[in-house]
Amino acid sequence: AGVGSQKDRVVTQEEWLRKWELGNIGFHKEQGHPLLQKYLDVLLNGRSGLRIFFPLCGKAVEMKWLADMGHSIVGVEVSEQALKEFFAEHSLPYCEEAVPEISGAKRLRSTSGNISLYCCSIYDLSSSIVGKFDGVWDRGALVAVNPCDRQRYVSLMITLMEKNSSYLLVAVSYDSNKHKGPPFYVPESEIKSLFG
Ligand code: SAH
Repeated sequence: AGVGSQKDRVVTQEEWLRKWELGNIGFHKEQGHPLLQKYLDVLLNGRSGLRIFFPLCGKAVEMKWLADMGHSIVGVEVSEQALKEFFAEHSLPYCEEAVPEISGAKRLRSTSGNISLYCCSIYDLSSSIVGKFDGVWDRGALVAVNPCDRQRYVSLMITLMEKNSSYLLVAVSYDSNKHKGPPFYVPESEIKSLFG
């Protein structure tokens, strides 16, 4: 039981798509996350017009908040439904584009141009496709990644960060004996060793 049993657990992309279809999206926060407000200064560090990345973005309303503050948002999400709901719920017009570097992927981009959401797996991205970022909002992302993919995820994230970027990570502390995840329990010691 416990963390041991979570280690081998895999949530497939099909399972995620199904959650969106069924509306099993208890992770979505209609009102946005209070910790982003609390740590906004840490993320921005006095800078404006940042490029901010939302890994495993779902339809996180924080993308709209930060875009409204003048930042450029890039997100990635396997569920096209999630991305379409995002644009619809904020009444944002958008267009769909192919992503030549990634077969089968799409990019949904707000007509105003400052929100660009990739519909594909995060593992399909690289800095040559999406560039590098000044800030990352990782809420429900590292903790949703399958435990066997954590190292790969973090290594990729590091390649997507500019030198002076800030990375806000929300992790949840809970009794991993009572819940098999996601979110998975990622102990603080593991977060430290993953990011080095
Ligand atoms: N960050 C969002 C969503 C968290 S839930 C929020 O704060 O609300 C995790 C999301 O990751 C789900 O929407 C799921 O569809 C998506 N996802 C899971 N695996 C993925 C992958 N490999 N690449 C991109 N998105 C993925």
